Amino acid sequence: MWRSELYATEVHEKLVTPNYALPVYTAPIAGEALLSWLCRLAAMTGQSPLAFARQAFGIDSVRQPEWWRRPSADQRSVLLTISGLPPEQFDDMTLERWSTARNDENDRRFSPIRMIYPKLRERAARTLFACGACLAEDETPYLRREWLIGWQAVCARHRTVLMRRCPHCRWKLSSQWLRDKEPVDLHRCKRCGGLLAGNGPPAIDGAVDLQAAMLGVKRRGSGEIPGLGIIQWETFTVIVDLVLRLVWIDAGDHARETLLAELVRDLSLAPDARFTIDWKGNYGALVLMAWMIADWPVRLRRALELLAAPRVDDLLGQVHDLSEASRMRARTRMRDVLNYQSRTMDWRLWLHGLVEGGTDFRRRARAENVWPRKDRLIALALLSEGKSIEEAAFAVRVSTNMIKRWLEVGMAYGVEAVLEKPLRICDLTPVQIDEIAAWLTATERTSGGPLKWSREHTRSEIMVRFGLRITTNAAYQLLLNNKPRHKRS
Ligand SMILES: [Zn+2]
Ligand SMILES: [Zn+2]
Repeated sequence: MWRSELYATEVHEKLVTPNYALPVYTAPIAGEALLSWLCRLAAMTGQSPLAFARQAFGIDSVRQPEWWRRPSADQRSVLLTISGLPPEQFDDMTLERWSTARNDENDRRFSPIRMIYPKLRERAARTLFACGACLAEDETPYLRREWLIGWQAVCARHRTVLMRRCPHCRWKLSSQWLRDKEPVDLHRCKRCGGLLAGNGPPAIDGAVDLQAAMLGVKRRGSGEIPGLGIIQWETFTVIVDLVLRLVWIDAGDHARETLLAELVRDLSLAPDARFTIDWKGNYGALVLMAWMIADWPVRLRRALELLAAPRVDDLLGQVHDLSEASRMRARTRMRDVLNYQSRTMDWRLWLHGLVEGGTDFRRRARAENVWPRKDRLIALALLSEGKSIEEAAFAVRVSTNMIKRWLEVGMAYGVEAVLEKPLRICDLTPVQIDEIAAWLTATERTSGGPLKWSREHTRSEIMVRFGLRITTNAAYQLLLNNKPRHKRS
C-alpha cells in the first residue's frame, strides 16, 4: 500500500524515507534529465508525473514543478534510498553542480519579451526544445538534460536547430512536466499525438560553437567564450541582455533591418534568412551573439552606431536585476565602446543639409492646404530651426514617437515620404497586390505563422522590395490574406 493513500503529503513536511522500493524500475540513460526519467517511470505505472512523484517519493510538484533541477537534501536522500541509484548517477541527471545566474534557466530567457517584462510570472507550462533526429535514433526516447536548461537552441550532435513546434500540427511544444496530471509520452506531440522525429534546419557553426562554450561556462560558473576570453557566467548573461535590449527595444525598424541584413551578409547566411530564422527566439539570439563576438567589440560598436542606441552606461542602467559588481564587470568587458556617443544629431544634420540645399519648410508649410501635410511641414520647420523633438511634438499635438517615426522615414526615404500618406490597401493596383501576394506566400517562414511576422516588419520589407510605403493596416491585411504554404510532412 502507498503511504500517501494513508496520509496526506505536505510540501513542507520533512520527508520521511519509507522502507519500500519502487513498484517499477528502469535505468536512467546517460545524459538524461531527472525529469525525463521520472516521466518515464510514471508512464510505466500508467500514472501522471504529478501522482507518481507524490506516491512514490512523497514530493508534491504542484508548487515546485522544477524541483528536479536542484533537489533539496531531503528530496535527494529520499530519491536515492527508494530508487537505489548510485549518488553519482543521480546527480548527473540534475543541474545541482551547475551554476545559475540571473534566472538564466527560464525558457524565455532569450526572448525580447523578457527584456521588456522581466518579472513575467513563470508559466505552468514550459516550452519543450528537442532534437527530432536524436529522438528518432533513441531506442527509448528520453529528454537530454541540456535541452531542458531553457536557452538551448541547437543539437551539437546533428548540428541542427532544435525543434520547438510539432512537425505535424505546428503546435508549440510545451509541457506541464512534473505538474502534469496525465501520463506523459516524451516523444509524441501532446496535441496531435504525432511522433516528434525528423531533422531540424542546419545550424550555423558559429551558433553551435557558441552554445558549446556557453554550456561550459554555465557548468563551472566561469570559463572561456571565444572572442570575449575568460568570463563569469553572470557577466555573460548581462552582455546578452544588453545586446538583446540594444537590438529589440527602442531601435527603429529600418535601422534594425539594416543591421540584420549586414549580419546575414557577414555570416554568409542564405539571403532569405531574415525570414526563415526566428530572430526573437533562442536560435536567433544565439546567431546574433555569434555574429557579435566573432569581431568583438567592433561589431558591438557597429550595432550601437547603426541603431543610434543610447550610451553603453545608459543601456546597462536599463538591464534588470543587476548588482553593482556585475555592472562593473560588464563595463570592463565593454571598455572599448564606453566612449561611444549616440549620434542624436543625425536628424539635425539631415535637416541642416536640406535647408542648406534650399528647402524652406516654413514657406512650404504656409502654402500647404492639406492639414496632415501642413502639420508635418511645421514640425520639420521647427526641428530645422533648432527646436527639440518634444517641442515639435507639442506644437503639432502628436506623440514624440510619431515625430521620431517621421524623422526615421524621412532620413530613410526622403521628405516626400514623410508628407505622402502611406498607401491603403484600396490604393494599391491589382498588379501590385498580386506581386506582393506571390512574394508573401512563397516566402517560407519556419519561425511560425504569418502573424509572427509583425506588420511593421512586413511594411518595411515591402518598402524595400517594392518601393511602396503602405499603412500598417494594409500590411496586416496582406499578411492575413497570403499565409505561407507550409510543406506538409
Ligand atoms: Zn540531435
Ligand atoms: Zn502535433
